[in-house]
Amino acid sequence: MSKVLVILETAGGQLRPHSLPGITCAAEIARATGKPLHLLVLGAQPGEAAQAVAAAGYGAAAVHTLAAPELEPFTAEAWGDAIVHAARTLDASVIGGTASSTLRDALPRAAAILDAPLVSEVVKVKSGDTFVRPISAGRALQDQKVNSGTFFFTARGTEFEHAHPTGAVPVQALAAAAVSTRGAQVKGVQKTESSRPQLTEAKVIVSGGRGMREGANFKILEQLTDLLGGALGASRAATDAGMVPADLQVGQTGKIVAPELYFAVAISGAIQHLAGMKGSKTIVAINKDAEAPIFQVADYGLVAKWEEAVPQLVELIKARKG
Ligand code: FAD
Repeated sequence: MSKVLVILETAGGQLRPHSLPGITCAAEIARATGKPLHLLVLGAQPGEAAQAVAAAGYGAAAVHTLAAPELEPFTAEAWGDAIVHAARTLDASVIGGTASSTLRDALPRAAAILDAPLVSEVVKVKSGDTFVRPISAGRALQDQKVNSGTFFFTARGTEFEHAHPTGAVPVQALAAAAVSTRGAQVKGVQKTESSRPQLTEAKVIVSGGRGMREGANFKILEQLTDLLGGALGASRAATDAGMVPADLQVGQTGKIVAPELYFAVAISGAIQHLAGMKGSKTIVAINKDAEAPIFQVADYGLVAKWEEAVPQLVELIKARKG
């Protein structure tokens, strides 16, 4: 019987938590179609991570591994080949995972090779072939029906619960595949070292925009972030200007986040930024322009210059904490 196959991401021998909502979405598709759920761990040496995943099971029938040195560091080319190989070998007809920057890159490539459609950013599974997804930068939701035996999907991580451990399942290694980076070369990897939580996992996010003017001014936002145990984010204008690293970008073309508390400091609230954070439970906006669109989505708005408001807020929180 054909399968639902979820592509997982791992680091340091462990499953990356942002893969868990993708499993939940896939499990819903598996239930709706009556197909079994299978998990796939890719990498140069995926064995240890696969064992950790298999110990938790997550409602799957089995965990598969596909090992190839070309799979690390990540290139969409090599991962695309590997996903196609796994889908063919396992007879998977529904293939997907969480809409992370990695899978948003690799899954469309695999779908194109198999000439299969891809439903991106699924926010709800209506049935085995009909899905709800945002369009027009999140301004509207669309029902999308798939008319193809084989299809791919990416699931929006903020819209599905994290899959829960259900008990151990077997690990099966797939035979080596012809995996190629097709000439793509990774020239270097710049990792942001941070003790803060991942943006997509954080309960509190403090984001700064172009109005912060320069990178050094983010120090005060970092203080606020650390007092609240949160993650630092930014608008694209701030990352494009090099104030902070690109992987802090929140929005349509950055990270989609939905924390309990989101601070937007000196961010105007362009539709592409809102697309990445308007699902946050409580939004606090600090902007000197009372007409800034961010105030239309904010639960709490403060018309003020950040230079005055944020240091005061930091001192108040410090005083409260004692
Ligand atoms: P601005 O719009 O310039 O706003 C700066 C704000 O700071 C203003 O409201 C101003 O009043 C305020 N301000 C200035 N000084 C102070 C001060 N001293 N104190 C308080 N407030 C102050 N953007 C994203 O963020 N994420 C995305 O993923 C994204 N994807 C995009 C994809 C596409 C295809 C396109 C076309 C655009 C995308 N953008 C994205 C860009 C987006 O359209 C906006 O340009 C961007 O979000 C603006 O960033 P900003 O709010 O920081 O800057």
